[in-house]
Amino acid sequence: DWIDLKHMTEQAVRRVELKAKEKGLPLKITYHGDSYRVRGDEKRMEQIMMNLLENAIRYTDEGEITVHVDEEVDGDSVLFIVEDTGIGIPEEELPYVFERFYRVEKSRSRQYGGTGLGLSIVKKLVELHGGNIRIASQPGIGTRCEVQLPRLPKTEK
Ligand code: ATP
Ligand code: MG
Repeated sequence: DWIDLKHMTEQAVRRVELKAKEKGLPLKITYHGDSYRVRGDEKRMEQIMMNLLENAIRYTDEGEITVHVDEEVDGDSVLFIVEDTGIGIPEEELPYVFERFYRVEKSRSRQYGGTGLGLSIVKKLVELHGGNIRIASQPGIGTRCEVQLPRLPKTEK
């Protein structure tokens, strides 16, 4: 089965629009490329997107959330990127955020809620699709989560 990442992104963004609006956070999508077909499962892809979008909204108090759907320069993969202007993740904590139940700082956990499972599930699902995920973050500046997925050749059905 193949899915269109552009279509899926629009769907996922629509589903979190109200949450973003309630926090006063503009939610924007940008596209760069012309084909975003990947092999995968719609439900699982939706789970990946929703988890990343919900994190971005939850851990951002002001600024904006931007979603980029992009092609890699080499043309072999598609990128789904969620960028926020939120509280960020300290560098020394970054290696652990994909562990089950891992949450950055107890005080923060109390303020923002959550169970610490989202990213561990996201990582598993991304890898199940033959892709990988990278997170870059700066405390007080924001976070960028980049999911890279192998692109399906345009001709393949
Ligand atoms: P859950 O997703 O299960 O509801 P959670 O959001 O706490 O709970 P994860 O999504 O796995 O768990 O994230 C792990 C930790 O990484 C979070 O507790 C949070 O501290 C940090 N984190 C994740 N995404 C962001 C983000 N966009 N900005 C800042 N911190 C983040
Ligand atoms: Mg989460």
